[in-house]
Amino acid sequence: MSFEILQHDAGGRLGILYTRHGKVETPAICPVINPNKLVVTPKEMFEMGVQIVMTNSYIIYKDPELRDKTLRKGLHDFLDFKGPIVIDNGAYQWHVYGSIDVDALEMFNFQRSIRPDIGILLDYPTSHDMSKEKATETIKVTLENARKCVPLISKEDGILWTGVIQGGYFLDLVAKCAKEMSKLPLDLHALGEPVQFLIEYDFKKVADMLVVARANLRADRPLHLFGAGLPWTLPFFVAMGADLFDSAAYALYAKRRVYMTPAGNFTLDSLTELICECPVCTSYTLNELKKLEPELQEKLLAKHNLYVTITEMRRIREYIRHNRLWELVHVRAHTHPQLLKALVYSLRKYRKYLEKRDLFTKRRAFFWLDDFCKYRPEISRALSRVKKVFGSSTVPSGLRYTYPFYQFESYTDKLPFKLERKKVNKLEIVRTIADYQFKKKGIGEKIIPNGAEIAVSKKTGRIRSILYEEKLLFVLRAYDYILIPQIEGGKILKENIPFPRFRVIASKRGIKSIIERKCLPAKYIIGCDKELVPGEQVLIVDETDDLIAVGELKFTPEEAVLATRGFPVKVRGIAEEETI
Ligand SMILES: [Zn+2]
Repeated sequence: MSFEILQHDAGGRLGILYTRHGKVETPAICPVINPNKLVVTPKEMFEMGVQIVMTNSYIIYKDPELRDKTLRKGLHDFLDFKGPIVIDNGAYQWHVYGSIDVDALEMFNFQRSIRPDIGILLDYPTSHDMSKEKATETIKVTLENARKCVPLISKEDGILWTGVIQGGYFLDLVAKCAKEMSKLPLDLHALGEPVQFLIEYDFKKVADMLVVARANLRADRPLHLFGAGLPWTLPFFVAMGADLFDSAAYALYAKRRVYMTPAGNFTLDSLTELICECPVCTSYTLNELKKLEPELQEKLLAKHNLYVTITEMRRIREYIRHNRLWELVHVRAHTHPQLLKALVYSLRKYRKYLEKRDLFTKRRAFFWLDDFCKYRPEISRALSRVKKVFGSSTVPSGLRYTYPFYQFESYTDKLPFKLERKKVNKLEIVRTIADYQFKKKGIGEKIIPNGAEIAVSKKTGRIRSILYEEKLLFVLRAYDYILIPQIEGGKILKENIPFPRFRVIASKRGIKSIIERKCLPAKYIIGCDKELVPGEQVLIVDETDDLIAVGELKFTPEEAVLATRGFPVKVRGIAEEETI
């Protein structure tokens, strides 16, 4: 497997895609290069910090001169780009021109012969105006094409292959195509035809297609959303589950003299000041830019547009690292009412999907920026857990310092939840947190016995840790005020929570790795409680439910079991060897 998941936030994730020409940090965007018209050269792009580019095999294939040159030199020399290159399969041209005169195997072999890092199996695009019958035919052909090519994929050439998901806006077909495509041994997937909806700013429909595809695909594979290149839409699509993007927008807009910004576009002529600090905008004045001869002006505008796009992608990754992606989505969604509409719609419609993917607790306070924030997964999940465990939607007093009920900044003075006003002692507080965290009323009483010593910070007055008979059971983490089990706490938890709840199951080699290297690689995970969400505290056990260690789940349970790269659990306390 070529993809490693690093971290979750909102419905998105941070990852690394490993290719023959190096690593790509995801989410990432591939600027599309037209070999016939290099507005910005691939070499310049590499120097600007572009990680990965995409070009079209149809254009190269149809032009004997280009074709010959590429076959002779290989794609990387031909384009003069040192990083990874994705080669598109020409299906879009099929879509636009009615048909192309190559078949799936011919296109597969051609792609392979020019040695890209990522190839795309030939699909049959479902156009937005097709009947259901015709759309069904497109997924049938797309799947048949993929099945024909798969036996010819060779590990030796190191090319990663993408299986495209078609079905248009027939969401049942999208789901079916995603499920079937997931069964094939491919590296990536792409959502085929959102382009018409993107042009119409119908972001709701794109979100529907994206979520349905993502939810039905193998969880450990990255998903590429074709054609979504407007910078201000990227945070939303990442938050809904896309890992990879491509776009020719930087060049198409430059041709129309459009100056992109992270919050909307302006025509160059309409500007009175430059509103960007990129190398183009700091080397030229607006007047100089306006007066340049058209070719150079187009090139510089394209460069500026690219800087804006890749900077937004970097910003998205940084916001994920800080657990703040929703806040960026919120800001960008106010660029256009259609995007805001899609955000509010998706938060409500895909609540369950998002609750499964978003972090259990976050390092940063929850920013309540609008009434619709009540649909955000951190709040909706916490409140439904309170209701399930305590039988009422009132948040118990014992949770008053626990995320998200305390780590909270709001634009109004009214709290979006009802907090119980009752005096509680320290023991009641930690037991309530345990009930909430391990989803069962009364479990706190079992795992934190009477007589437990509750240590308090002298500086803050907050609870720091829980000891029993001089053994450290739990630490209360400062930023989210949840229980972090130590190995002794893990032992008590194991006795009180039935298998396989709150468990990650490691293979024999996994146990060896935990003992020797204090880590649990993904390939050694053989089971995981399906009810867990990223960020929850877990018990790491072997197949016979012997406790090996305690830790924190970083992936979704599905990803943890399927992934073969990365470290789905952060291992903390490890049991003494003789007890394993
Ligand atoms: Zn600029």
